[in-house]
Amino acid sequence: MMIRVGQGFDVHRFRAGRPLYLGGYEVPSAVGLDGHSDADVVLHAVTDAVLGAVGEGDIGLHFPPSDPRWRDADSTVFLRHALELAARKDLALSNCDVTVVGERPKINPHRDAIRDALAEALAIPSDCVNVKATTTEGLGWTGRGEGLACLAIVLMTCRETE
Ligand code: MG
Repeated sequence: MMIRVGQGFDVHRFRAGRPLYLGGYEVPSAVGLDGHSDADVVLHAVTDAVLGAVGEGDIGLHFPPSDPRWRDADSTVFLRHALELAARKDLALSNCDVTVVGERPKINPHRDAIRDALAEALAIPSDCVNVKATTTEGLGWTGRGEGLACLAIVLMTCRETE
């Protein structure tokens, strides 16, 4: 069976007055993430992981932040494009695991909602998606609460050999 693995990593700084989207789910928060698009750090990391598995570069290559079309864009658009590139190569997503890095907001109360939204965006069952979180014990810029990072990994399998 042909399998492909991909990893992704993304960072966005906090900005007051912006909505906070994680995995396509709007987390109730007074502080959101800054960015050209909706700044969904989870969807960006997952999109890069899919592009990595497919061998198609990174999100900035396909959706340059300099392009006004992507201002405040719904990041599920980026993910859908990456999954379409995968489908063209007969690659289907098997599972996805993400780690959100930051001090706040606490992810646990929103974990299932983020997982379900991410699973819907990925078009795979929720039990094939895992969302976890960690702090950095107060160290560094995440420890100072300046923003969030996200790590993602995906496993893809070739449809023909499934
Ligand atoms: Mg990003």
